Amino acid sequence: MTNASAGGPRVLLRRLREEMAAQSSPQKRLDKIVHLIAQSVVAEVCSLYLIRDGSALELFATEGLRPDAVHITRLRVGEGLVGDIAAHARPLNLFDAQAHPAYVYRPETGEEVYKSLMGVPILRGGRVVGVVLVQNRTMRHYSEEEVEALETVAMVIAEMLAAGGLTQLGSEDDVESPPDRPHYVSGAVISDGIALGHAVLHEPRVHVEHLIAEDVDSEQLRLENAVYELRSSIDQMLNTSDLSHAGEHREVLQAYRMFANDRGWLRRMIEVIKTGLTAEASVERVQNDTRARMMRQTDPYLRDRLHDLDDLANRLLRHLIGLGPSSASDDLPVDAIVIARNMGPAELLDYDKDRLRGLILEEGSSNAHVAIVARALGIPTIGRASGILDRIEQSDAVILDGDTGEIYVRPTQDVIEAYSEKARFRARKQAQYKAIRHEASVTKDGIEISLNLNAGLLVDLPHLAESGAEGIGLFRTELQFMIASTLPSQREQTQLYSSVLDSAGERPVVFRTLDIGGDKILPYMKAETEENPALGWRALRIALDRPSLLRHQVRALLGAAEGRELHLMFPMVAEVAEFVKAKALVDKELARLEKFNKPRPSKLVVGTMLEVPALIWQLDALLPLVDFVSIGSNDLLQFFFASDRGNPRVSDRYDHLSPAVLNMLRSIVVKCREYDVTLTLCGEMANKPLEAMALIGLGFRRISMSPAAIGPVKMMLRSLDAAHLERFMESLYLRGDASLRVELEEFAKNEGILIG
Ligand code: PEP
Ligand code: MG
Repeated sequence: MTNASAGGPRVLLRRLREEMAAQSSPQKRLDKIVHLIAQSVVAEVCSLYLIRDGSALELFATEGLRPDAVHITRLRVGEGLVGDIAAHARPLNLFDAQAHPAYVYRPETGEEVYKSLMGVPILRGGRVVGVVLVQNRTMRHYSEEEVEALETVAMVIAEMLAAGGLTQLGSEDDVESPPDRPHYVSGAVISDGIALGHAVLHEPRVHVEHLIAEDVDSEQLRLENAVYELRSSIDQMLNTSDLSHAGEHREVLQAYRMFANDRGWLRRMIEVIKTGLTAEASVERVQNDTRARMMRQTDPYLRDRLHDLDDLANRLLRHLIGLGPSSASDDLPVDAIVIARNMGPAELLDYDKDRLRGLILEEGSSNAHVAIVARALGIPTIGRASGILDRIEQSDAVILDGDTGEIYVRPTQDVIEAYSEKARFRARKQAQYKAIRHEASVTKDGIEISLNLNAGLLVDLPHLAESGAEGIGLFRTELQFMIASTLPSQREQTQLYSSVLDSAGERPVVFRTLDIGGDKILPYMKAETEENPALGWRALRIALDRPSLLRHQVRALLGAAEGRELHLMFPMVAEVAEFVKAKALVDKELARLEKFNKPRPSKLVVGTMLEVPALIWQLDALLPLVDFVSIGSNDLLQFFFASDRGNPRVSDRYDHLSPAVLNMLRSIVVKCREYDVTLTLCGEMANKPLEAMALIGLGFRRISMSPAAIGPVKMMLRSLDAAHLERFMESLYLRGDASLRVELEEFAKNEGILIG
């Protein structure tokens, strides 16, 4: 490496490659490597330290120091120059190492005679797994090219350690868990259930196989071409309104474009290619360095950018390796647990459901639409699993506990056994739910409660019979629109609605008209940039401004329901006039059918969602006009508390079991009773047995929930004395507490109510 420009490092890399292919023992190979490096750099010493037990750097191999110090000398991360390199994940280049304040000397190594030192971290996935350094007796100045070359060698060593099954020798720094150690993360439950399987990284890091270049010039050309292709593909993505394939938002793409066009990035990669790596390996190495730097940032904004840069590097690698732009279904294992930062509902549906055991999102809250789809598919899901993507590799074993929000990465045998047992226990519980599915849904004191399903896709329909639900309380028609790549035609809509009605048979289905906008983006519709999309142009607002969309849908629904009952409701009604307008459109369509003597539904039942607080103060005007009201607790409560349902930072900030919420809901119950109008609640609040219990205590007699919730909620209500609960709750309404959860839990416990 003294003559880096004359191909020194490349010769070394070639010899390392031969060494990688050799059949010798791991220790022998490491000994040979340090020997080769020392020879190439013309250094008296080359030593390799690997991290053990999370925080100690152990001398694993040396050329030049005393051989008996190997596996004896240990330094903490942060201790001495070696520890300093590991702690900061950056090189040190010191012509007078002993003058450095961090210098410490270990007598067993005999290193006191060496003056100059050049050391670099060994990084894998941006994490420090060890340190490699050279030392000389003289006060030697190592050049920047030499540092660069040693970093390249360190990357090859990192790959070799992993490929040769040597990772159990090296481990992580004291902050992060090592890639091969068990790791535990706790998140928030989105969809319950237990899953044991293997990690599939949504847009996983591409594995680079060929590290060492045959010909530097052709590698540079490959890289330049791939960067050009990447830039064009990002431009193309940005220029079309179809962002669904990107699975990212526009701003992210704009950031990609900015990063992709960053000249410094390309220049860095070319510099690395010149040290002898392939184009792929140079992308990976530069990204490793970036990760190492950025993972030490505490600023969440900057850490977030890291994922963007990771994605970009991945896309570039996919271009280089000739893979398609997405990885959703590439070689999905039969027990896939998909890990993503976040994703949209359509992206989840790209995965083969039969192979999908679980979903883990770094962000993502329980009201987001991907969460709703995950629940509809019965996929155990955990959100807010902070930092998981930094600690997991493709194909790692994972256990996901959707009851408690716990995630075990690379679990130990005893955890696997405990969870296998837990999974069996759950299966027994499921069997109990199944056993009561044909039993009456009635409280101990004889009050009938109608339990219904929330659905939105044909895949949901089998749940009707399986769960014993009375009907579909909410059919989200927008899901068909969200997963399609073009606007579904009226005929396609009719087909779906009639298949739904066919499968539901005698059970009623409440279709909600299109609820798009907000977080429900249609890939083929030009997205307007809105400052507050949840409060923006969405749902019925779009429908009333673009009546042809609603008209086609209503025609499709009326057509599908011919000779059968049709239950319809409108989303996001904020004022009575909006309901009146939408209802008038339906009446007009019905009259049209009558006029032309076309088949019509046997009965038309039209109601509204109640999810905008303003409507609560218009109930006296509204209730005489509607057949039913269905509370959308997801939106109603996000507006009620002014806390974004899709923002994990605030979505769970306020407890829905608070006097404020209970009083508000109670006032709606009272009004609906006064006007004798059927009241339902179809938000996620009904999913949890304790919350469902509180709803019954408030006077709700009909609720709609995700399929997995029916069994537990039914079990709960069959053990409940509703009149007793109603009396108990009277004492709660005037309380000033932020939450009444504990009181309600106590009540359930004392009364022997099965809340799971
Ligand atoms: C709600 O807002 O509670 C609801 C049921 O509708 P969605 O979750 O589809 O917005
Ligand atoms: Mg809603």
